[in-house]
Amino acid sequence: MDGSLRIGRLFGIPIELHFTFLLVIPLFAWIIGTQIELTLSLLGMVFGVEIDPTLVLNGVMPYLLGAVVSLGLFAGVLLHEIAHSLVALRWGMRINAITLYLFGGVSQMEESTPDPKIELPMALVGPLTSLALGLICIGLVYVVDGAIVDRPLAGPLVFILAYLGLLNVILFAFNLLPAFPMDGGRVLRAFLARRMPLPRATRIAASVGKGFAVLFGVLGLIALNPILVIIAFFIYIGASQESTAIHYTFLLKDVTLGQIMSREVMTVDPSTPIHVVLDQMYATKHLGFPVVERGALIGMVTLDDLHRTNPIDRDALIVRDVMTRGALSLPPEAPVVDALRVMSEQNIGRVPIVREGDLLGIVTRTDIMKVIELREL
Ligand SMILES: [Zn+2]
Repeated sequence: MDGSLRIGRLFGIPIELHFTFLLVIPLFAWIIGTQIELTLSLLGMVFGVEIDPTLVLNGVMPYLLGAVVSLGLFAGVLLHEIAHSLVALRWGMRINAITLYLFGGVSQMEESTPDPKIELPMALVGPLTSLALGLICIGLVYVVDGAIVDRPLAGPLVFILAYLGLLNVILFAFNLLPAFPMDGGRVLRAFLARRMPLPRATRIAASVGKGFAVLFGVLGLIALNPILVIIAFFIYIGASQESTAIHYTFLLKDVTLGQIMSREVMTVDPSTPIHVVLDQMYATKHLGFPVVERGALIGMVTLDDLHRTNPIDRDALIVRDVMTRGALSLPPEAPVVDALRVMSEQNIGRVPIVREGDLLGIVTRTDIMKVIELREL
């Protein structure tokens, strides 16, 4: 949960707000508020309706409407993500959380290698949800415009609906660009994957994504549009990450943790003093040890745990006081990719390998990176 605030659950999926998202809401409200006159005439032109400006331009109303529109936009982004997640759940995939970031949402899926048959409907349903929301808002523009006789009162409502209608249609079109990490990139990969192996399909889709990123970046620089440059940057990073992740997944295919784990594990007892653990870290250069009590793994003690202690108290503390209890472990049959995923999700450097409570070995992030290097040969 790095920098994210959990606000609740929908359909059993935790919904989180990233701090960049909390910054962007007031920023959007302000931008929309300052440009309201221009937007008003633009929206009127696009939809062919006359929006009464009396109330809309009155006092703090532009910023209030800006806040409503930006909240509405992100409610739309959330619905878009929920649509992706519901399709994924239906296919038996697990969703860890939906996080709303600066530029939209991300559904964190447990599965790292997508099945093209599932990926296609899953990728398409998000943009289609945005399109449906946009069309509903646009439909309501005309309903409200015709139904409310008091023109000044109808002004703000028509403005909000028209703005959200347009934004959701733009969201639909933008997300369908055939560029990773956007939904259109996934659609493209799913199509390519019917004719070629997934890594190659991913590589091509990622290259197309990088091409779009460069194009956006150049356009952004020419037009002096910082938002376009930032979007270009995010697309480029996203496309690279996706292709690396798939590359690793394929290199590590059919390698199990049992095959690569270190069997000689240095463990510590819960009653070991902290300074002894620290000496052990200096001597072995291992920055984490499984804690074993009467033969059973009960937790892990890492350098991070020691960091959290007050240096003055350190002499009086033992492992039991600072260790992480019930630390995560994996069975030796588990694929190496699982360990890699767990490590990056939980931000940990090592995973103990355990069968029926017996500690068999340990696998570190460095071990996995070495295996990747060997397999790349
Ligand atoms: Zn999407």
